Parts: sequence; structure tokens; C-alpha cells
Amino acid sequence: MNRPMRISDILTFAEDAHPGAEIVSATVEGGLHRTTYGDIGPRIRQLANALTGIGVKLGDRVATLAWNGYRHFELYYAISGIGAVCHTINPRLSAEQMTYIVNHSGDTVLFIDLTFVPIVEALADQFPENLRYVIMTDRAHMPETSLKNVLCYEELLATGSPDIEWPEFPEDTASGLCYTSGTTGNPKGVLFSHRSTVLHALMCGVSFQKGICPGRRLMPVVPLFHANAWGMPYVSPLVGASLIFPGPHLDGKSVFDLMDGEGVNSGWGVPTVWLGLLEEVEARGRMPKGFDEVIVGGSAAPRSMIETFENQGVTVCHAWGMTEMSPIGTQGILTPPFTELPKEQQIDLKAKQGRRTFGVDLKIVDEEGNVLPKDGKATGELFVRGNAIIKGYYENPEATAEAMDADGWFGTGDVASINPDGFLTLTDRAKDLIKSGGEWISSIDVENMAMAHPDVANCAVIAVPHPKWAERPLLVVVPVAGVTPDTASILAHLATHLAKWQVPDDVVYVADLPLTATGKVSKMTLRQKRAAQEL
Ligand code: AMP
Repeated sequence: MNRPMRISDILTFAEDAHPGAEIVSATVEGGLHRTTYGDIGPRIRQLANALTGIGVKLGDRVATLAWNGYRHFELYYAISGIGAVCHTINPRLSAEQMTYIVNHSGDTVLFIDLTFVPIVEALADQFPENLRYVIMTDRAHMPETSLKNVLCYEELLATGSPDIEWPEFPEDTASGLCYTSGTTGNPKGVLFSHRSTVLHALMCGVSFQKGICPGRRLMPVVPLFHANAWGMPYVSPLVGASLIFPGPHLDGKSVFDLMDGEGVNSGWGVPTVWLGLLEEVEARGRMPKGFDEVIVGGSAAPRSMIETFENQGVTVCHAWGMTEMSPIGTQGILTPPFTELPKEQQIDLKAKQGRRTFGVDLKIVDEEGNVLPKDGKATGELFVRGNAIIKGYYENPEATAEAMDADGWFGTGDVASINPDGFLTLTDRAKDLIKSGGEWISSIDVENMAMAHPDVANCAVIAVPHPKWAERPLLVVVPVAGVTPDTASILAHLATHLAKWQVPDDVVYVADLPLTATGKVSKMTLRQKRAAQEL
């Protein structure tokens, strides 16, 4: 019973107990690729041996820049299996953020999907000189590239033998790394261990009983580069569910076709993806075949979306979590007696963020740190602690000190209430962030950049509700006296530093900004003014 937990045991288990469960991937090269846990095991062992062959050792960081597909899944297991750290990079980060994290994490190898080769080519001279690149395709699809030190994935894999004794190491050995962006300054590294990852998979397996069980077909639309695709690549083989990966095709039509063709039962993703799917559902007049459950998280699931799904026979489970929590914190599956309530009240409950999963403790506190009652009325900052929640940020003691309280609870930056039945309701965000289509935009970073424009005397960026992206940034500017500001020039200036989707949709001009009692810009007042159309 003292054997350490290892991620490789999940794979070995799936090979033994569920060899026929499938992994189906929409590929970057085109078409669908099909394999099973039984067949992918030997390839993962080959890849693990091949990694060792090119010098990857215990503790090394090996990065991926890739969509959801079988090769990315292989990397998850091969890298962690040999005790190295699978560092998933979010391709939607700005060039500056990506450069920072590749250097900060000290990656030794970077695996790249074909789509992202141009991004890496543009940044390669700012990446570590001895970084090796592996393009995730076969010889026939290898592109012309200016990158040096390049290998072809299938050729590298072929150099490895399929025989391996997966090594043993302490269960708190690091296994995964994912940087979370958004707050001011550079992205922060979230490090996962074998123990936290296996426990998180077990926690998900018991918490999402309807969605995740043997024989089910699950589709993580949530990316493998974002918070471990909510743990799906670990929990699915652990229970024997099949995985359907959408690859680069995340629009409503592609998601519908893949779900319909593959009989996906349970889909996992942010509201923006499901809005796209629902447009397609409306156009075709039906849900994809076999689809009976949707897990919505990453941003609040709109009530109307919950209603639309539920009215068409798809059960909605609204979940909340954070990268720092591996990421699942709560889930919204209704149990008796709530399932006996009138439908309207059930939908009201589902619009809340759900109840905690085992292994996640929740508390809400006031500004002095006093714990508030779980009475459904008191709201305060939400703190968490548990078996799969970070103990700190990777090589970043300042950010760690800021995030943890004296008793070791992690401050989420979310403001919430908890009712006596245990349902969490997020009411606000203490952190100064905007979440657009499931991805963070730091209002502070945008403000700092906008301040460098000659027309801008002062400014603030606020989140405004958006039907497709959940939130979008709006820039509120106090112009320099006597200047007629040029909106196009301000936005063009921002576009030189930010990823395209991080640039505010619009600029509004005001004579001055509202302040709080402590003299800070009151974002809440700005949001209220915006809602009242006063901006
Ligand atoms: P990330 O680490 O990028 O996954 O972002 C985590 C944050 O996303 C949380 O702290 C919340 O602010 C937000 N979030 C996640 N799930 C939900 C949800 N169901 N409702 C509202 N906000 C959410």
C-alpha cells in the first residue's frame, strides 16, 4: 500500500483492462485517426524510450504546442512516465508571454503541431539556443522550416523500443507544468505531480459518475494545453471511457459533425464552444446523435444555454475550477431531492457553480480574512485547499506568497457565496481580469500598454458581457488635454504587443475615471456605467 502513485499506472491499467476503448482524433494533416488504449500503449513506450535516447532525464521540462489529438496524448504519458515534466504551452499566448515561459521553464525539447511551426519560427531566436524541436507529424508531411535542431515525430518515435519498465520515483515528483496568464506581470507556472494527477483523476471519476464511465464516449473540447483538458486524458483511460479529440477544428459545424459521426455522449468545454454548437443544432434541428451530457466550465454557463440543452435532452453539469486546482473544484450534477424540484428551479440551481468534489475544501472570507458563513447570503473571496491544489507557483515565491493565506489555503480571486446545501455561486472577481472565450486577458497589462500611447492620459480596461465570448475588453480612456484621440492608432499600438484576440474591441473616451475610497480606479463603477449605457 505504500507504492507511490504513478501516471504510467493509468496507462498500463487501460491497456490491460480496457484495451478496446478508442481514441479518435481529428488530425491537423486532415481526416480522422483511430487507435485504442491497447494499441497506443506500445507507441507511448517507444516514445518514452526515444525521449530517453535524445537525453531527456528525470525532472527535465519537455514542452508541447499542440491541439487535442493522439500524439499529444502520447506525449502526456511518455514524458511523465520517465519522470520528466510535460509542459503544455497555450498557443494563444502573446509572443512576449510565450518567450517568457519557454525561457522561465527551461524547456529542453519543444514538440510542435504543424499549425504552430510558424509561431515557433518567429520566436526561435529568443528561445534557449540548445532547445530541440520535434514536429508532430510523419515524414510525408514535414514542412520546410527555418528551425534548427528539428526532428520528425514519427521518425523519433520509431527509434524507441516498445519495451520499458516504467521507472519508480517518489509520488510527489513533478509530472506536468502549465502556465496561467492573466494577472499582472508574467504568466505563472502551475506544477502538477504524479500524486496530484492520479488523485485528481480518481476524484473526477467518482464525481462525474454519469459522464465518465466505461464504454462512454467523451470529447474534451477544452484543450490539452489548458489545465490538462480538465483531467480528461487521465480519467478516461482510468475508467475505460473512449476519448474523441477535435484537433484544430473547434467551430460549431466541425464539433457537431465529429460528435454526430462518433456518437459522443459527453462533451467538455467552455460556454463559447457550446454556443457555436447550439447554432449548428438550431440550423439542423437536432442534437448530435448519442449526445446526452455537457460539462460547461471555465466561465459561467449562461442560464439560457442551460435551458436550451436541458429542453433538448442534454443534461448540463456546470463545473468550476482553476488551472491551479488541476483544475476541477466543483460540479453541478443534481441529486435527489433537487431532481424532484420543478424544472425552472433545477435550472436555477444549475446556473450556480455546483458543489465541491471530494478532495477540495472551500471557504469564503471577508477582507480581514474572517471565515464567512455558508448561508447563501454572505459573499467573500473564495479560498481552496486540497490534494490536487498547488502549494505554490513554479519558481515564483512572490506570486506564491500573494496567493496563499497563512493556513495554506489558496486564494482563487473569485468572489462567491455558498448556500447551506453546499452550492457555490460566483458573484464577482477580485482579480482584475477578463475571460474571453475561456482565455485570460490581463486588464492591467492592456492598461500599461495603452498608457504608453501619446493620446492617453489615463485609462482603464473593463470586461463587458459578450454573447459569444462571454466577456470582451473595453478600453476607457481619459485623453491628453487638447488632443483629439485617434482610436485606430491606439488599437494599432496595442496590437503590436498583444495577441490579436486580447486587443479591446473598442475605446470610449471620458473626462475622468471614477475612483474608490482608496483612490484606485473603480472598475465596478465603470462596469455599472457601461451597463447603464452611460459610457
Ligand atoms: P483557468 O485557470 O484559466 O481555468 O481559470 C479559472 C478561473 O475561471 C476561475 O478562477 C474563475 O474566475 C473562472 N471560472 C472557471 N469556471 C467558471 C464557472 N463555471 N463560472 C464562472 N467562472 C468560472
